[in-house]
Amino acid sequence: MSQEITGTTRVCGLIGNPVQHTFSPAIHNPLAEAMGIDLVYTAFHVQDPESLGTAIAGAYALNILGMNVTVPYKSQVMPYLVEIDETAAAIGACNTLVRTEGGYKGYNTDYLGLARAIESADAMHENVVLVGAGGAARAAGFVCGTRGVRHLVILNRTIAKAGELADDLLRHFPQMDIQVMPLSAAGSLPAYGDGRYLAIQCTNIGLAPDVDAAPITDPAFYQRLSYAYDCIYTPEETRFLQLAAAQGVAGACGIDMLLWQGVLAYELWTGTHPTDDEVEVARQGLRRHFARQV
Ligand code: NAP
Repeated sequence: MSQEITGTTRVCGLIGNPVQHTFSPAIHNPLAEAMGIDLVYTAFHVQDPESLGTAIAGAYALNILGMNVTVPYKSQVMPYLVEIDETAAAIGACNTLVRTEGGYKGYNTDYLGLARAIESADAMHENVVLVGAGGAARAAGFVCGTRGVRHLVILNRTIAKAGELADDLLRHFPQMDIQVMPLSAAGSLPAYGDGRYLAIQCTNIGLAPDVDAAPITDPAFYQRLSYAYDCIYTPEETRFLQLAAAQGVAGACGIDMLLWQGVLAYELWTGTHPTDDEVEVARQGLRRHFARQV
């Protein structure tokens, strides 16, 4: 980093446990430098949940401009905020805190980042199949609900968890038709509209080093897709994406979801809108970070 840090430099940072392997500085610092904004981003290790309130109050007292929040504090942080964005409150998780009068306001740019990644690829579809029912799938469910998806299928190993996610999504988006199915039934998706689906892969299966694994191997599933989005970004070319490509289906890994959650947080903190070239600088920062990890 060649950016000069002075007495006027604003500070943003990540809180979580652990934070040592975070990728976020690799997004925010190149972006600040490319945009000529006097801001530095670093990581703050918050050891235990009992320290969370003190950490938030301390950050505010130290004039810290904004924070990202990661595992395990995305929900636990909420009682310490002065305001919470409506969708972040519905999702029940905040990954971005923005300094306001008297404290921080919480947002969820994880779901916004996924929406941006899918919309940038022009991949949104009226039928969506979520693979998984954990935290990433929950964010994806809110993308579907807020973007007017008509038919949602949730495939999960543990069907009860898929049912809980469906029930909660229906409370927020009663107009959405939602079905839950076991992963083993992936080859027989219901036929709606053009019969095709945007698939959003939200399980851990295929994550490095387990790169030969995929949550679904049945070609009949992949033949039904209009686009395949895998939230995993290490590796960039997952087995899930390879199986989709083998059926002629285009797709992308989760790197842009990750990138956009950072860029959107940055926009909230600074009130700026990076150009495409500036976003590309951040994307390259992220790629360099991944290359160093290998
Ligand atoms: P999570 O809440 O722990 O959910 C894990 C999901 O994977 C559950 O649906 C779980 O099914 C399923 N699963 C795990 N192991 C399985 C197995 N052996 N067989 C079948 N299903 C299995 O995790 P998460 O936070 O949603 O994260 C999921 C993935 O998304 C991770 O790989 C993470 O890296 C990625 N992610 C990416 C971004 C990004 O910015 N690109 C952001 C968030 C997450 P059960 O319910 O049956 O246990």
